[in-house]
Amino acid sequence: MSAQLKTFHGACPHDCPDTCSFVYTVENDRLVSVKGNADHPMTNGGLCVKLKDYDERHYNADRVLFPLKRNGPKGSRQYVRITWESALAEIRQRWTEIIARHGSQAILPLSYLGNQGLVHGITAGDAFFNRLGATVCEKTFCASGSSTAWLITVGPTGGVDPESFVHAKYIVIWGCNTLSTNLHHWPFVRRAQENGAKIVVIDAYKSLTAKKADWHIAPKPGTDGALAMAWVNVLISENLLDNDYIGKYTVGFDELKERALKCTPEWAEQITGIKADDIRKLAREYATVKPAAIRVGVGLERSAGGADAIRLAAILPALIGAWRHVGGGTLEMPVWEFPIHWDRVCRPDWIPDGTQVVNILQTGRALVGELPLKTPIMSLFVYNTNPVTQAPESDKTLAGLRRDDLFTVVADQFMSDTASYADIILPDRTVDSMLELDLGGKTLRLTAYPTAHTHSDLSVLDVDTGTLWLGDLLFRERLPSFDGSVLGWLKVIGTLEQEQGVRTVIPGHGPVGEELKAALADEKRYMETVVAEVRAQIADGKDIDEAVETVGLSERGRWQLWDQQHKRNVSRAYTELEWE
Ligand code: SF4
Repeated sequence: MSAQLKTFHGACPHDCPDTCSFVYTVENDRLVSVKGNADHPMTNGGLCVKLKDYDERHYNADRVLFPLKRNGPKGSRQYVRITWESALAEIRQRWTEIIARHGSQAILPLSYLGNQGLVHGITAGDAFFNRLGATVCEKTFCASGSSTAWLITVGPTGGVDPESFVHAKYIVIWGCNTLSTNLHHWPFVRRAQENGAKIVVIDAYKSLTAKKADWHIAPKPGTDGALAMAWVNVLISENLLDNDYIGKYTVGFDELKERALKCTPEWAEQITGIKADDIRKLAREYATVKPAAIRVGVGLERSAGGADAIRLAAILPALIGAWRHVGGGTLEMPVWEFPIHWDRVCRPDWIPDGTQVVNILQTGRALVGELPLKTPIMSLFVYNTNPVTQAPESDKTLAGLRRDDLFTVVADQFMSDTASYADIILPDRTVDSMLELDLGGKTLRLTAYPTAHTHSDLSVLDVDTGTLWLGDLLFRERLPSFDGSVLGWLKVIGTLEQEQGVRTVIPGHGPVGEELKAALADEKRYMETVVAEVRAQIADGKDIDEAVETVGLSERGRWQLWDQQHKRNVSRAYTELEWE
């Protein structure tokens, strides 16, 4: 490697369950390639077709690189370049006038998951707009139903680890076209299939994944809940249950039984179009071939009653005790599974009492006056989303964006359909290693890290005050959760310990600290203990089941969330370290 060639780590910002680990190569300050990280067990060196030319996107001639001001009709895409000072001055002036005339709720921030990162993602900007007293944007395009259903059924866990699917002998992929939309999970499913696992795909159409399955079950669209109830019916009526597990670890079985016994396979056949005998066969195989794993995709959620179907998919493994086995259970990946203090990022306590709320699904209606809002929307600030193409009722969204009296600001990397109706466009930026933001009298230093807690950890240092915001890189008193790489995280802690000039440390979890090294000490000790003991277990030929029961016990009693998190951590550390 020449002296000018440098590599940096990052993560895919897309809204995708794979969260690929990126390696950026920079030559003489120019990005020359973005590749999948070959050292990362899920990414395994490959990116999907959407991202494989990401470096070309970075230098695409159509990128918005400077603030722009509209000088033609809305939608005409006629803009002139202006300075940041002019852009900010105009926004300030227009918002001051709007607030004086209508109140601050006349401003509606619109954002979603244009970037999936914790700092730049779905909650970015909330604190600012809450402080301003703007209308609250309720963000529920997707995952709200499934995440809520999952959490009230199973609790704050992502379910079975995607890598553990290699251990399964019966895999049900339900409402998910893995080969197209969760590509990096497929090698684990494929390996299980090569080891003798049966792959069942439940999908209303013969997807690419369904074509590779051993059995494709095609219910009518939106009838998965009925299929699941009949599945539960067979498990109960044929006593294919793990009664010990149900007795010890579940609640509400009697109520479920009462309802499910009415939902026979014959009843479900009428609704789903799946033969009753096939439903019986599915339930029997699922209960008897162990370990059995279910991957629930977003397809299950996208219909009326979808959340209830997700609840049933979460109940099934409890009925047969599948959670007992490595590679058994259900994987759903709810966006809220992580024990993150969202309120510290979003500051809902800054929302004034009585502030009106607009659901992002009703953007168009809010703009054309079809919602009963006490304050009309007179300005939009759009970032991380493109409502013209993403929100329902595009005709109403467009009609609203064309309003002469609506002042619209859009921050984007490209001239999106929504940006072409903006009065002011602000260019978005990406952070691949370090970025200093001069806010005028205050400098913020943003640093991106290689895979540690996750694949996209970022710290923010307020240089003047020495305040370091570490987000998920620092857990205090609450047990850290291993979601990226424990070895990578320990390496990053080593780097952070060298950081100079820090006077206040703000963790993502737990109390604020003053001395950086001391603040990092507990999570470092915990991780080193787990790593050392897991390595010893592997060297002794102990399997993952034994490791989760014995590793790290000296740390118990020192951490909150121990019961929810520790065994999962050990299992993740084991799967990382067994390849050393
Ligand atoms: S599969 Fe593609 S979109 Fe998904 S995380 Fe990987 S690179 Fe990003």
